[in-house]
Amino acid sequence: MTDPALYPCFLGPYGENDELFERVLVELLRDHVFWRRNFHPEDPPAIPTHAAQRADYQAFTARMRRELHALTAALKRSVPFHSPRYIGHMASDLLLPGLLAQMVTLPYNPNNVVGDAAPVTLDMEISVGLQLARMLGYPDDETRPDCAFGCLTSGGTSANIQALRLALIQKCWPPALAAALRACGEDLVTAALPAGVTACDDWQLGNLPAVTAIALLEAWVARLATVPAAERARLAAALAQQRVESLGIAEFFRRHPQLDAPWVITPVTAHYSWPKAVKLLGLGSAQLRTVPERAMRMDADALDTLLDQAQRQRQPVLMVVGVLGTTEFGTIDPLDRMVAARERSAAAGLGFDVHVDAAWGGYLATLFRAEDGSLLSPERVREGFARFPGAGVHAAFAALAATDSVTVDPHKLGYLPYGAGAFICRDHRRMALLAEDADYVFDRGGASDYRATFRALGRYTLEGSKSGAAAAAAYVTHRVLPLDREHFGRIPRETVLAAERFRADIERFAAAVADCVTVTVPFEPDSNLVCLALNPRGNRAVAVCNAFVAQLHERLRVDPQQPLQTKAFFGSITALRPATLGAHDTMRILAALDLDPRTLTATPQAQAGADDRLLILRHTLMNPFLRDEENDRDYPRMYLDYLAGLVRALRGAGGPAVVIAAPAAGAR
Ligand SMILES: *Cc1c(COP(=O)(O)O)cnc(C)c1O
Repeated sequence: MTDPALYPCFLGPYGENDELFERVLVELLRDHVFWRRNFHPEDPPAIPTHAAQRADYQAFTARMRRELHALTAALKRSVPFHSPRYIGHMASDLLLPGLLAQMVTLPYNPNNVVGDAAPVTLDMEISVGLQLARMLGYPDDETRPDCAFGCLTSGGTSANIQALRLALIQKCWPPALAAALRACGEDLVTAALPAGVTACDDWQLGNLPAVTAIALLEAWVARLATVPAAERARLAAALAQQRVESLGIAEFFRRHPQLDAPWVITPVTAHYSWPKAVKLLGLGSAQLRTVPERAMRMDADALDTLLDQAQRQRQPVLMVVGVLGTTEFGTIDPLDRMVAARERSAAAGLGFDVHVDAAWGGYLATLFRAEDGSLLSPERVREGFARFPGAGVHAAFAALAATDSVTVDPHKLGYLPYGAGAFICRDHRRMALLAEDADYVFDRGGASDYRATFRALGRYTLEGSKSGAAAAAAYVTHRVLPLDREHFGRIPRETVLAAERFRADIERFAAAVADCVTVTVPFEPDSNLVCLALNPRGNRAVAVCNAFVAQLHERLRVDPQQPLQTKAFFGSITALRPATLGAHDTMRILAALDLDPRTLTATPQAQAGADDRLLILRHTLMNPFLRDEENDRDYPRMYLDYLAGLVRALRGAGGPAVVIAAPAAGAR
């Protein structure tokens, strides 16, 4: 059943919590007006009380109201994300605490670029970073020298770019330092740099693991603190000149011929923000190496092979990206194997970072976290689920703590309004490398320094001005629903349970329509995304199958030309491409659908029904109200009945309209 603890959390599919929402919103907006009036109550109102009688005042308000009504009228054509009939893309209802916090913060308009413009919400943003760090298993005690750091970004794309930018700067910094010292007539060894840096050639310095790079940075900062101001300025200027951010990638690698532009290794399933990121940073998509998958999870053996190749060719690697919740399938990469590969490679002199793109799945980590912040055992996590966490999934979440940085989107499974992604870095000291002025010396010695440093947030982030209201929304939400299994975890729990029920119902659906279509789930879901492939019975051609699925999707998509109510359910569609799938999974799925592999051509064509890919239906089960026990409704189940009807209608076949709901109603 829907967990009753979730009843007050959202406005609700029917707007059930409207009174709560309205009462709090009006109260807090009034509170904002009192705040304005109490600033200097002796200042008289600047807008005269009789202003409202003016003709131009009235004309303005009339125009404004007309346009606002036009806006809300137009917005009625929006996608009904709040409805449990919507199981298409990654969107759902919004958490009330976040929505309210965002709305009541807007009129204060804080700008989280710098503490001076956001005395309250910038501090909240730093706290949000620590709340997320704790959820991931990173150190979140500000007094620890290696405490994590996180900040909000416009979204997952921007957080991924931030991760790549930081990794690149970190990688190029040690060779730049060595070059700067040489230019000043010194070297790294006499400059008393840390254990772990033995020989000082560029190959070694350009392939340090993050821990050594951080130790080097620490030693350098300590060293600078001991020299006279003039000498410090000279050294700092020499270093600034040698850094990749000054020289640019081309000149930097020309000056360090032992190093090549590094590879960025992602699984083939990676989000398209990764090609964007390598292009934007000037690394070029040629440096993007993709690792094949097995059932949409990165093939860790293939990663090892690729890393061996890099080692043999003396090819630097910038980072290995693991995906925690792929955008299309919600599948989870073996992060534990990636961390192990990083350790093995580091020992062999090929250091790189492991970054996790958890834009989608980040908040699933709440299911693995106890209230005291510790990791729950696989047995505890499994309680109440049929098969979650599947093989390797617990190990992947457990390994999060050992990764170098993570992208999480509060505006996806955090149920917050758009404009809220997050970048979290396991050790905040690395952030010093991003500081926009060369003054990257951190004051240290306690929590206040940690906060003070990051109050100049815009020095470290891609974004400049940014919404303090988004930070308030995330902060308040995480306070109301702490990021552990007992609190926030109840939401993903509900959605994973819904996905498990849906997965089981698909078996019944498949049996019920077996006379007219062949149905298969191409990949067993790891979380709350479930895809469905269907092929008309007797058909062996991929193009025909695709045309059929495209026709189904036509009934399941938003059509701005038609009233919303004409649609019963919303789903989404995605394409399986042989290049991504690999031969093994391609053959397996085609065989399950009884399709002839020879009809899957490799010629890229753009039109729907093209036969270079296989179209499948994709369902995001993130709405917390998918199952309504009070009224004996299970929306994904109703959807499957609807789909069965559609399938029959399209195939011109008769048969029962309801195939699942009747016998199974109420049962889980
Ligand atoms: C959604 C998503 C992104 C991009 O995030 P935006 O917030 O849309 O910029 C990146 N990676 C993954 C895995 C995603 O699911």
